Amino acid sequence: MNANELHSTETIVIGAGPGGYVAAIRAAQLGQKVTIVEKENLGGVCLNVGCIPSKALITAGHHFHQAQNLGPFGIWVHKVDFDFSKVQAFKEGVVKKLTGGVEALLKGNNVEIVKGTATFVDTNKVKISSKEKEETISFKHAIISTGSRPVELPTMKFSNRIIDSTGALNLKDIPKSLVIVGGGVIGIELAFVYANFGSKVKIIEGQDDLLNGIDSKMTSIVKRNMKKKGIELFTKAFVKEAKEIGNEVEVMFEINGEEKTLQADYLLVSIGRKPNTDQIGLKEVGIEIDSKGIIKTDKQCRTSVHNIFAIGDIIAGPQLAHKASYEAKVAAEAIAGEKTVVDYTCIPAVVFSEPEIAVVGLTEKSAKEKGIKAKSSKFPFSANGRAMALNQTEGFVQLVTREDNGVMIGGQIVGPSASDMIAELSLAIEAGLTAEDLALTIHAHPTLGEIVMETAEVELGNPIHIVK
Ligand SMILES: Cc1cc2nc3c(=O)[nH]c(=O)nc-3n(C[C@H](O)[C@H](O)[C@H](O)COP(=O)(O)OP(=O)(O)OC[C@H]3O[C@@H](n4cnc5c(N)ncnc54)[C@H](O)[C@@H]3O)c2cc1C
Repeated sequence: MNANELHSTETIVIGAGPGGYVAAIRAAQLGQKVTIVEKENLGGVCLNVGCIPSKALITAGHHFHQAQNLGPFGIWVHKVDFDFSKVQAFKEGVVKKLTGGVEALLKGNNVEIVKGTATFVDTNKVKISSKEKEETISFKHAIISTGSRPVELPTMKFSNRIIDSTGALNLKDIPKSLVIVGGGVIGIELAFVYANFGSKVKIIEGQDDLLNGIDSKMTSIVKRNMKKKGIELFTKAFVKEAKEIGNEVEVMFEINGEEKTLQADYLLVSIGRKPNTDQIGLKEVGIEIDSKGIIKTDKQCRTSVHNIFAIGDIIAGPQLAHKASYEAKVAAEAIAGEKTVVDYTCIPAVVFSEPEIAVVGLTEKSAKEKGIKAKSSKFPFSANGRAMALNQTEGFVQLVTREDNGVMIGGQIVGPSASDMIAELSLAIEAGLTAEDLALTIHAHPTLGEIVMETAEVELGNPIHIVK
């Protein structure tokens, strides 16, 4: 290890995920001298072991399943096969292109990239440790964006066959059987990946429904498809322990007062993620965290230490890449002295299940809990021409508006392309549009987007393609 070197920067960003790299670019655009420190890979969890690789595998699994189910279009494919090493190579290719792009963007914006693990020394210095050297960088401002990691259960420690989401994304072969502990977003998305490639998947969930917080009218449609694909769901079921036995893993759980055991090739434990705030010297510099390790921040993402900001999975709110990137821009702009604050009215969230689920803003129920008089209107995909031509007619769009003035305050979509369609509802909420604005917007025909217009017409009481 070299002797301790010292250099200085204006803004140091710790962690290069969708929070960190966006913060670094925005800070550089605003004229700051920026250094970003990353201990693993540029792009963070999202690009390397999260959003992007999971979606590449979801798409591949979906194509494989679709290719065998084209009968309704009058098409039969007699031999459909796959080579999972090529599926993985496709996924890795996508990751490589994107992470390479992040590096080019950082360099193009003159952001200094430092490889190593950052730890705070004081409120103006961090120590960077790597295999090659240890150095100290002094800074005026810091943005912490160290992200999160999977929670491990003490009774089922990660091993060869007890795996986390990263392990599940990197399997070399399709397992014959897979048990998943946790019916949250990550568990459900990976369940569809492996079920589509032929694994026998079983999910153990502690709550009485999967996808906690999502309306049961939406989850029931996803559950119907899970059943069709042979995915078995155990709800109100509590895992006790798991152990590897030979080439299998055995998991014990309790359901309805009865003890049960399942065997599988792999056990994926996906019960949540905890913030990476325990090993970066926060206490030493007086940055306040709560009992779960979440850093306390104000509306500009400023921590309890005035020149240090925190963004992404390590602060309150949903653990989503786009939330991290949004906060990144606010923090960088606050450092530049701009009058900016976070506004969380409108954070869309998507589950890439079959069909997809996408939500934004309030539901009728959550609006009422906030004392807002709201009403909701629904329109089914089954009454839309494009959905019929796609042979994907399951699901609905739901708009939530204020009763007094019709302003959009929420939206829920379950159906094909919900992940893309939610953008229109987000924009409507962000811009303070009413259902009438959506109804008056000419939507191209035939598109799934027309369902948004038609739902707004339901809200106004004059739907064309559904009888009142
Ligand atoms: C399987 C999976 C699928 C997901 N799918 C989606 C999705 O579809 N959509 C969505 O919005 N979100 C999704 N997420 C969540 C999303 O990945 C995270 O919300 C997002 O990555 C958080 O961004 P971040 O910048 O806060 O942290 P991260 O992406 O976790 O990046 C933090 C970075 O900091 C680095 N780091 C940590 N400590 C240090 C240190 N001391 N010094 C230097 N570097 C350090 C880490 O190596 C890492 O690269 C998914 C997550 C998983 C696991």
